[in-house]
Amino acid sequence: MDEHEILAALGGVEKRIAAAEEAAGRPKGSVTLIAVSKTKPVEAIEAAWRAGQRHFGENRVQEAQTKYPALKEAHPKLVLHLIGPLQTNKARESVRLFDSIHTLDRPKLARVLAEEMERASRRPEILIQVNTGEEPQKAGVVPGELDALVDYARWEMDLPLVGLMCIPPLEEPPGPHFALLADLAEKHGLKQLSMGMSGDYEQAIALGATHVRVGSAIFGERPAPD
Ligand SMILES: *Cc1c(COP(=O)(O)O)cnc(C)c1O
Repeated sequence: MDEHEILAALGGVEKRIAAAEEAAGRPKGSVTLIAVSKTKPVEAIEAAWRAGQRHFGENRVQEAQTKYPALKEAHPKLVLHLIGPLQTNKARESVRLFDSIHTLDRPKLARVLAEEMERASRRPEILIQVNTGEEPQKAGVVPGELDALVDYARWEMDLPLVGLMCIPPLEEPPGPHFALLADLAEKHGLKQLSMGMSGDYEQAIALGATHVRVGSAIFGERPAPD
């Protein structure tokens, strides 16, 4: 997509977010749009930035490292979210590059993130990814193990834990997964709810999303993942 198309698409998504906030009786601006730029070139990200977009998301640390250090230097107000799985051997780079990490899902990663935050004197916000559909191939902690991970991350590792994230199973209606995530977050007093993508962000907002992660509806379709 060229600059003009990105501008138009972004405007359309912003309008639909505002309408969904209003329909849900939620304050205007209560939902943060994360523009997911994976596989997209820096030019597309710059176009979205010029259109006023400030929050961006990437799902691979390595790809983010090729694009975002220069972008963040040029635009200090840019806020970068990691929304894909994180290996412990990428924790150091991640703590330095990202402002928010949505995919904590195991105690060992919590411990390594705490060590790297100490080392870098930098504390990106942390969300726990919950595998609400209990899909064996999917990242995230299963709901039954969430309490223990929240306690460990928050009280033992002293991480800046702010919310929960989920990716509902592709073949199921997302509503019940969004509702479950909202219940779990409330139970733990966690304020951020990262849920909703291009196909379902309005429904996610109706169910309490504070952060929606929208890629293709802004930047156009991506090549199929390999
Ligand atoms: C790619 C991705 C998105 C955005 O998906 P779209 O359907 O293109 O909006 C959201 N969340 C995660 C975790 C992703 O990997």
